[in-house]
Amino acid sequence: MVIAFDIGGTKIAAARVGAEMTANEIGRLPTPTRDYDAFCAAIADLAGPGDEPIGISIAGVVDPRDGRLTVANIPCADGKSLAADIETRLGRRVSVLNDAKAFALAEAAVGLGKGHASVFAVIIGTGIGGAFVLNGRLVIGSTGSAGEWGHGPAAATRTVAILPNIRCGCGQPGCLDTLGGARGLERLHRHLSGIEADSPNILTAWQQGEPDAVRTLDVYLDVVGGALANAVNILDPDIVPIGGGLARNGALIAAIDAEVRARTLGSRAMALCVPTEAGPEKGLVGAALYASEIALS
Ligand SMILES: [Zn+2]
Repeated sequence: MVIAFDIGGTKIAAARVGAEMTANEIGRLPTPTRDYDAFCAAIADLAGPGDEPIGISIAGVVDPRDGRLTVANIPCADGKSLAADIETRLGRRVSVLNDAKAFALAEAAVGLGKGHASVFAVIIGTGIGGAFVLNGRLVIGSTGSAGEWGHGPAAATRTVAILPNIRCGCGQPGCLDTLGGARGLERLHRHLSGIEADSPNILTAWQQGEPDAVRTLDVYLDVVGGALANAVNILDPDIVPIGGGLARNGALIAAIDAEVRARTLGSRAMALCVPTEAGPEKGLVGAALYASEIALS
């Protein structure tokens, strides 16, 4: 049994996760984003008494060299050694994992990746995330950022479109993350057509064959599919489960799959990119799997 947490910029959800890998929610609290002591106290409150290990999935990168977090939307925890601080406070084993990595572990163990040796799990939500699991083990990387395919230059090489050059939250100009998520699709549509619309409306217009939306999606698929094809060429995974808000549109994921398969070296008869859910449940299960792995190591 593990007490698992899914921590985002607005809420902290906690659940008990047992050997059967189902998450039974204990409770949730709003995330204290400005007061680190209140943030740690909220985790301690939800964990309650006991000695089960604690596994945390959080929307930030954990540096494996010193355990420090880089987390933009919870400023009070940025730069902090969260696992060590909660361990000291509660006297329990604590592990902290990036949310895309938790999603990937859950997909590999109990999701679409089950039975596959190599799983590159991708999130296309507000922004872009990803993580790689090989033979059941998460690939962390030397700085904790393995699989973060959203933070490299975006390019439109098939459509030769001029892309908006926006500074990314990571500090670099023109990252895929600024164009590939839901906000990015909206930005791209505004840039190419001058039309202000939200991502569900853009996708509906695309599916109805509206010319401006068709043009935007052609460029979007070039940019996102091209970048994902690069990642697939490097990792050559068995399957790419895709979660996040935009993955709820099956036609979009099928179009991304067609783009990726046309632009990768290896030929595949079956779909590679497949839609799945990346909800709190996946984060909780992934955090619990990682905590169990750490407890056994
Ligand atoms: Zn970036």
